[in-house]
Amino acid sequence: MNQIFDNANQWLNDLVSYVPGKPIEDVARELGLDPDKIVKLASNENPLGPSPMAVKAMQEALQKAHYYPDGGGYHLRAGIAAKYGVGIDHVILGTGSNEIIEFLGHAFLRPDDNIVTAEHAFVVYKILAKLFGAETIEVPDPNLTHDLPAMAAAINDRTKIVYIANPNNPTGTMVSEAELDRLVDRVQRNVVIALDEAYYEFLPDPPNTLKYFRNHPNVIVLRTFSKIQGLAGLRIGYGLAHEDLIRLLQKTRQPFNVNSIAQAGALAGLRDDAYQAKTREVVRQGRDFLQAEFRKRNLEYVPSVANFILVNVGNGKEVFQKLLRRGMIVRAMDEYKLPEWIRVTVGTPVQNQRFLEDLDQVLTEDYTDKT
Ligand SMILES: *Cc1c(COP(=O)(O)O)cnc(C)c1O
Repeated sequence: MNQIFDNANQWLNDLVSYVPGKPIEDVARELGLDPDKIVKLASNENPLGPSPMAVKAMQEALQKAHYYPDGGGYHLRAGIAAKYGVGIDHVILGTGSNEIIEFLGHAFLRPDDNIVTAEHAFVVYKILAKLFGAETIEVPDPNLTHDLPAMAAAINDRTKIVYIANPNNPTGTMVSEAELDRLVDRVQRNVVIALDEAYYEFLPDPPNTLKYFRNHPNVIVLRTFSKIQGLAGLRIGYGLAHEDLIRLLQKTRQPFNVNSIAQAGALAGLRDDAYQAKTREVVRQGRDFLQAEFRKRNLEYVPSVANFILVNVGNGKEVFQKLLRRGMIVRAMDEYKLPEWIRVTVGTPVQNQRFLEDLDQVLTEDYTDKT
């Protein structure tokens, strides 16, 4: 082994990298398929594409791409603050909300610290904890729903952050505002409570979590432009918290972390209410349709409040591979210790229909045929 590795942080040896949904271009190249015939329902992206208002704003911003971006993100932070009726000093921007998870690591985690998450929570919390040498306490989640009292009870004197994905990915389940109230009251103030609300805008009646940070400077809410706003490729998200926590996190980021095209697109997308309403409706109808079709086929699924559904297909990896060969990209769930399941993102009506046809074909094929 190269001696340089003796000096590397040894905990990286057990860091297992994130496995993203397969890009359409990769599948086309690897399997010799026409990219235009491939459907990707693998990463909970918006099937309607980006907000047209965001696209227009980005085209204009391109003309100024020779300037460094506004590192302070003034206009976008002001837009977010106005939308939620908070001050600009309560808002921080990240290259995706995932970068804010990393900021929390920079600010709070050292080797031998830990974070608390649910057993089937979004895996990025665990991966980024490992990046800082910290451990993850995974709390069992009966019915694939976060058990907040058990999570509070799991906190010990090395716990720095508790992550709650609400709704959670990949399970599509959520906890109520009353449950969150009890958790926030119970957790001591030196432990950060990170409420990851990437799918918040899909909820008809979302819990009010912005009420917490005034009295609880340890609470941060994470949101993103990647999902309902259809801007996953831009990599932009944000955090909302008490000004003291925001000030601390601002120190951990690079001066120009969020690029100018992303800032412009996100601000326009934030204001495109009609597009968000349309997305919400397409997702609601598509989810109802897919869940009804799973029931008809006696396929077990986890009723979802978000824009994706977990469905039990017996052998998730095999079904994933067979769907892939048909140009249908979904997600296998072995990374989440759910080997029987796949996760499918709700698409357009045409995409949902195509997914069911492909799934029916794959599930009726003989499992023993050659792969
Ligand atoms: C998709 C997703 C995010 C968003 O990540 P970005 O970095 O903003 O693209 C965050 N949390 C969860 C649980 C998600 O599923």
